[in-house]
Amino acid sequence: MLADRLKNVTGSATLKVAAEADRLRRAGVDIIDLGAGEPDFDTPAHVKEAGIEAIRQNFTRYTPAAGVQELREAVCARYRTDYGVDITPAEVLMTAGGKQSLFNAAVALFNPGDEVITHAPCWPTIPEQIKLLGATPVLVRTHSEDGFTLHADAIISAITARTKAIVLNSPTNPTGALITEACAADIADAASARGVWVIVDLCYERLIYDGAPHNLVKVLLDGHRDRTVLCGSASKAYAMTGWRCGWTVAPPDVITACNVIQGHSTSNVASITQKAALAALTGPQDAVKTMLDEYGARRDSVHSWLTANPAIRCVRPKGAFYLFPDVSNLLSPRGIRTSAQFAQALLDEHRVAVTPGEGFDAPGHIRISYATSLEQLREGATRILKFAGSLNPAHAG
Ligand code: PMP
Repeated sequence: MLADRLKNVTGSATLKVAAEADRLRRAGVDIIDLGAGEPDFDTPAHVKEAGIEAIRQNFTRYTPAAGVQELREAVCARYRTDYGVDITPAEVLMTAGGKQSLFNAAVALFNPGDEVITHAPCWPTIPEQIKLLGATPVLVRTHSEDGFTLHADAIISAITARTKAIVLNSPTNPTGALITEACAADIADAASARGVWVIVDLCYERLIYDGAPHNLVKVLLDGHRDRTVLCGSASKAYAMTGWRCGWTVAPPDVITACNVIQGHSTSNVASITQKAALAALTGPQDAVKTMLDEYGARRDSVHSWLTANPAIRCVRPKGAFYLFPDVSNLLSPRGIRTSAQFAQALLDEHRVAVTPGEGFDAPGHIRISYATSLEQLREGATRILKFAGSLNPAHAG
């Protein structure tokens, strides 16, 4: 009954956990929800006010599908300030979140039969979008042993004559790893020499700890602007997930193609959202820093709590707001065998929602979001340690 293109595509594991946690919470169960893929902070007040003012001013009609000119200019100004690059509005398209930015690019660039390389553990939407377009995702694995570091040679050696694009995500969901500037440069050099596109999901680009260098924007735009597609988002940086605002930075012909796709599907990002996003991008940026500092403190706390149990191996993430511990030491053939069963039992018995690694192509792990209060995190970590101790009493933490 359904179109063939849906045969290999699966729904979002992260949204499934959120739905299950929500169902239990509505049934009155005391859930510690560490599954959330979104900030727990409120949208900054001046951003909300701009949205309210847009409604008052009747800014409630269609806009150009690519977004209003001043907002596209605001993206250019932000990139000039933050990354030292000059881009023009002709290279910018506003989208309904980073998701639509990635999807437009996939529709614009991938043909059935193409190979598209990405790295795993990965945010599932990336390979699923590739499959939706009839292309084949080629996953290059990163490993917890070296901090989930992406090595350029691993990506480059996966390039074949059928490779159309490489999709990178940094900071990476679910590992919190960063792709280094040198790695991005090497990948882009090799890709460009072979006529392969580099698409970068930068949705967490404002959530990087300890001032780690991460100017992938400049590296890629200065080096290979004609082969680079950048996907950005207001969702995480400005706590605006529900507003749905992202953008694409790409060569003008790709932007034109994405504009055609968007013009025949969703059209413009909600006009009200555009005014709010304009305030977010052009107004004071201190809320971004305040949230980052808070996430950083939470990261350190939860990381130290969990690793008190040596059976839980956990890389200290450099960006985003997730921990991705390896719990395989706690699994056993006669008990809880998989991280999916681990997550289910944790929810059933201890009322803590986490996302199993299976959803990110990384069985043996769980994803813990620290985009929730320190109090909830403390309680969640206590329950996880209790559960872990019951599975592996030798390491009870
Ligand atoms: N990329 C990654 C890696 C994400 O984790 C998410 C959201 N979970 C997105 C893109 C898309 O977010 P949005 O569409 O809200 O910008």
